[in-house]
Order: sequence, then C-alpha cells, then structure tokens
Amino acid sequence: MSDPKGSALDLSRRARSIAVTPTQAIAARAATLKARGERILDFSVGEPDQPTPRNVSMAAVNALGAGRTRYTSSAGIPELRAAVAQRYKKDFKVAFAEDEVAITNGGKHAFFAVCQILLDRGDEVIIPSPYWPTFSEAVRLAGARPILVQALEKEGFQITARMIGKSTSPRTKAVILNSPCNPTGAVIDPEDLLVIGDMAQRRKFTLLYDDTYGRLTYSRTDDGALQALRDSVGDRFVIVGTASKTYCMTGWRIGWVLGPKPLVDACAALSSHSTQNPTTFAQVGAVEALTGPQKGVQELLTEYKRRRDYIHPAVAAIPRVTCVEPGGGFYLFPNLGRYLSTKIPTTLELGRRLLEETGIAVVPGEGFGAPGYVRLSFARPLEELKEGVWRLKEFLAGL
Ligand code: PMP
Repeated sequence: MSDPKGSALDLSRRARSIAVTPTQAIAARAATLKARGERILDFSVGEPDQPTPRNVSMAAVNALGAGRTRYTSSAGIPELRAAVAQRYKKDFKVAFAEDEVAITNGGKHAFFAVCQILLDRGDEVIIPSPYWPTFSEAVRLAGARPILVQALEKEGFQITARMIGKSTSPRTKAVILNSPCNPTGAVIDPEDLLVIGDMAQRRKFTLLYDDTYGRLTYSRTDDGALQALRDSVGDRFVIVGTASKTYCMTGWRIGWVLGPKPLVDACAALSSHSTQNPTTFAQVGAVEALTGPQKGVQELLTEYKRRRDYIHPAVAAIPRVTCVEPGGGFYLFPNLGRYLSTKIPTTLELGRRLLEETGIAVVPGEGFGAPGYVRLSFARPLEELKEGVWRLKEFLAGL
C-alpha cells in the first residue's frame, strides 16, 4: 500500500508494507463492471451463495429485540464459547474446555490475533504454498518471517511431513496447516498430520491449524486426528475457525481460536484494546448456528460436491489445462500456465483479460504464491458454472 498521492500523511512503514489481497482487487473491478450493467460471472470471492439459515438470522433478530445490544466479554459470550467447544467435540472428536475458546470477529481476526500473540521479530513461520494471502501478511505484520514451502501439483498439492521437516530451523516458531486448503482444496493426510505433530512436539514449534473449510470436506478421513494432535502437541496446538463458510455467515464476522487458556486470555486482552468483542447479537445468532439443526451443513456439502463433480472434470478437459480435484472447500485451482505467452505473460494479465473480454472473474494465482494458476470459487449456481466454463474454454481456444 502506498501513501495517497499528494497527501502530507506519513503512513507507517507497517501500513506501507501491506499487500492488498488480489481477491479484493478483482472483486472491486468485477463490481464496477456489474454496476455498469455488464453480466459478470463472479468466481472470485470465496463465500457461499446461499443465505444464512433463517433460524440463525431469527436468533439474532430476537436477540436485538431482547436488548442484547451491549458489550460482551472480550473472549465472547459464555454460551458461544461453550457451543464452539461442543461442536468441535461432536464434529472433530477433539476436546477443548469453554475457557480454551475465544470468540473473534471472524476467522481472519482469529488468525491475526494469534500471530500478534505468538510471534516476535526474528521468528520464522512455515507456510505451505500455494497459500491464503492473509497467512503471510498477518505473519509479517507481527514482525515475523514467512517461510514458504512448495506443495506440488504433481503430488496433488499434498502437504507432507517430509516437506515441513525439511524447512524447519531453530527459529521456526510455528507451522501453518490449512486443511482443506484455500486455494488448492488439498486435504492433509491424517498420517502426515500425526508425524508433523510429533515434529512440533520435539522441535517445540506451534501448529496453527486453520479449519475454515473443515466441515466442507468431501471424504472425511480425519476422525480423531485432531485429538491425536492435541494429545501429542499439547499447548502448542492451536485451531482457528469460523462460522463464515459452514453456516453461510461471512458478513456476520464470527470466528474463534481454540488453544491453551493463556493464549485465549491473551487473545481476549488484545481484543479488549482493539475490537472489544464480536457484535453481541451476531454472537447469539452463532450460538443457534452451532447448537441448532445441522442438516443445512450436510445439504451445503452435498450441493458443493455436486458442483465440484461438474466443474472439476469440465475444466480438466479443456485442452492444455491440468487441474487437481479438490478434496474439500469450494475452490478449483487449474493450471493455465500453458496458455501464457509473450502476449499474455502472467496469470495476472490473463485474469484481467478474462474479466474484461469474457466477463468472468477469477483470482490470479500470483496472490497465492502460484503464478500460472487461477482460483475459481464454485460456490455459485450450477448454471453459472456451466456458462463460466464455456466462456473460459472459448476464450482459451481463441488465444
Ligand atoms: N482462513 C481461510 C483459509 C480462509 O479462506 C478464510 C476466508 N477466506 C478465512 C480463514 C477467514 O474467514 P472469515 O474471516 O470470514 O471468518
């Protein structure tokens, strides 16, 4: 980010170092084109296309009516902390106590807060790449150094214990694991998880596990893996999560941190001087999401699987495109590198032309540390996906 032109404002070095997420840049351009009346198929933003379930919205409306409009504890309301702990026990068979849960203003804030709490200047944090851009930015904003470790397309973008082991150093403070991964959709093998856990315990680094898409996994094989990690890694095992994707609540800004009590208390202390607490009635809505009927989550997963089962083979069948099948989440990460040329040298330029010339918005891989690829969210209606694939195919055929 640069200082506004002609302004006397002297932004801090920290502010000037922030890279704006590529998703937002594309989404902003797509919004401008839409406002002009153009029919844009937007596959750039990572959020469910369904509305928040009605029972959840009504719980928040009723909370407003009942005067739940005041500050809460910075760690969140006790009902929600307990609801998160219970949900993880039910869904992932991992046990955290209520006071080992802090509620945050979304998963992004959860990750940012954990970085501020755990990291010091000189610390290194291992981030498997391709990666969600906020991981590296939040690590850098905390003064630490992101160490990118490459996951390979030919290995299905799998993050393995071997890859992680080769990159650790005495300065390794934390390793970030995001499973299923944004943007690749790769799900970490539970056996690798356990070996990485063993390493964390021996080499004394923290495992920062982002399970934003954990409930949107197409073939679950991890039952018990998180508790096994907790048993082996102990206090150095930290989970960050969110209501955003599982319950179609991106705008509500409710996320959480699960970890040892001192970390949770530090998170609350940090919030008490910044956000204070997540919006009170949104927290009440989230209690309903987590404790109410879970049928909607299963329906969402079934619908995304239907879309994945259409879009993955359709895109992989485009000549000179290769694409790993995502095991979870709602992103496809095809390799369009064979279409780059002197005329279109980067996927940034390819993404720009795709948007301007065909009206489809995708996120160029550069922002995820993976030039040559683009990320396509398939949390869109099937008819739009079909039209999008057709437009993409035509565009590439014309190059
Ligand atoms: N982690 C990952 C990997 C994500 O993709 C996202 C959302 N894009 C988040 C965390 C945070 O989501 P939110 O802030 O909406 O809870």
